[in-house]
Amino acid sequence: MTDDDAFTTTVHYEDDADSAHIEDKTVAVLGYGSQGHAHSLNLHESGVDVVVGLREGSASRAAAEEEGLTVTTPAEAAAAADVVSVLVPDTVQPDVYEHAVEPNLEPGDTLQFAHGFNIHYNQIQPPEDVDVTMVAPKSPGHLVRRNYEKEEGTPALLAVYQDATGEATDEALAYAQGIGCARAGVLETTFREEVESDLFGEQAVLCGGVTSLVKHGYETLVDNGYSPEAAYFECLNELKLIVDLMYEGGLGGMWDSVSDTAEYGGLVQGDEIVDDTVRENMEETLEKVQNGEFAREWIAENQAGRPSYTQLREAEKNHEIEEVGERLRDLFAWADEQEADTEKEQVTADD
Ligand code: NAD
Ligand code: MG
Repeated sequence: MTDDDAFTTTVHYEDDADSAHIEDKTVAVLGYGSQGHAHSLNLHESGVDVVVGLREGSASRAAAEEEGLTVTTPAEAAAAADVVSVLVPDTVQPDVYEHAVEPNLEPGDTLQFAHGFNIHYNQIQPPEDVDVTMVAPKSPGHLVRRNYEKEEGTPALLAVYQDATGEATDEALAYAQGIGCARAGVLETTFREEVESDLFGEQAVLCGGVTSLVKHGYETLVDNGYSPEAAYFECLNELKLIVDLMYEGGLGGMWDSVSDTAEYGGLVQGDEIVDDTVRENMEETLEKVQNGEFAREWIAENQAGRPSYTQLREAEKNHEIEEVGERLRDLFAWADEQEADTEKEQVTADD
C-alpha cells in the first residue's frame, strides 16, 4: 500500500525538459472534464499527437471536436496511444481501466495520472512492463488552460511509480512541459506523498477543517444572541480577506495587516481554540489516510450508491449559515460587482 521512496523537493523547469520525449508519441486523453480538456488542448497546441477518448453518448464529444481534436472511444484511444492519460473521475477510473485501457496496453506504453489515488490504493494494478507516471497540476484545469494561453505556467507535481522503460521521468517531464507546467515549476514527489498529503490536507484543513471551524464560530455567536447576519460576515465572509493576506504574504503578512488587538487576541486564543485535542484528531485522520482505512471506506461508499455521502451533503446544505449567506449574497451581490465593473469599463472603452 506504500512505496518507501524518500520524499524529494527537486524542482524542474523548461530547461530540464526535452520535448523529444513526447513529440513522436500519441497521447490518449481519457475524459474531457476539468483536467482533460486542458491537457488535450495544451498538448495539441504544443505539437503532440492527441486522441481524446470519450464514451459514445458523451456530451463533451462535440466540444472536443469543435476545438479540432480527434475523438474516439476510450478503448480505441488507448489502443492507438503510447501514453494513456487517465483523466476521468477517480471513482470511475478502475472501471475504465479494466474495460478500455488494460486490454490495449502494450509493453513500453505509459499510464499517466493527475492524482495517485487508484495506483496508491491498488485499485488499478498495471502490468510490470509499462511506465506509470503522474503529472498533477496544482490547480483546476481551467487555470491550466488559461495560463497556457497567456504563455504562463501552472505548478505541478511529478511522480514515477513504475519505470519499465528507464525513460519514465523524461517523458513525464516532457508531458508536463507540453501542458505548460514546466514554465512555472515541476516538483518531484512520490505517488504516496501526493495522495496522502492531498487527502490529509483536504480533510483536516482545506475542506473539512475550515468548514467546521466556520460553522462552530457561527453557531457560538448565534446561540449567544448575536444576529445571524453579523455572525455570517464575521465567521465566513471575512475569511476570504484573511486567506488572501496569508496567500500573498504568509502568516506574517496577515498578522502585519490586522490591528494589534486582532493580532494579540489571535495569538493568545488561537491555540486555545484549536488545541492539542485537534492536533490529536489530525494524527488520527492522517493515520486513516496512511493505513488505507479512509480509502476502503470511500470505495465501499461508492459501491453502495453513496448513502452516507448523500445524507451528509443534505445536512450541510440545510445548515442555517447557508440560508443566511444566500440571502446576504443576493442583497449585496459583491460577487457580481467586479464583473459588472469590468463590463462597464468595456462598454466605456468600446464607446
Ligand atoms: P471531471 O469530473 O472534471 O471530468 C471527468 C471527465 O470524464 C468528463 O469529461 C466526463 O464526461 C468523463 N467521464 C466520466 N465518466 C466516464 C466514463 N465512465 N468513461 C469515460 N469518460 C467518463 O474530472 P477532473 O476533475 O478533471 O479529474 C480528472 C483527474 O484529475 C482526477 O484524477 C482528479 O483527481 C485529477 N485532478 C483534478 C483536479 C481538479 O482541479 N479538477 C486537479 C488536479 C488533479
Ligand atoms: Mg498502446
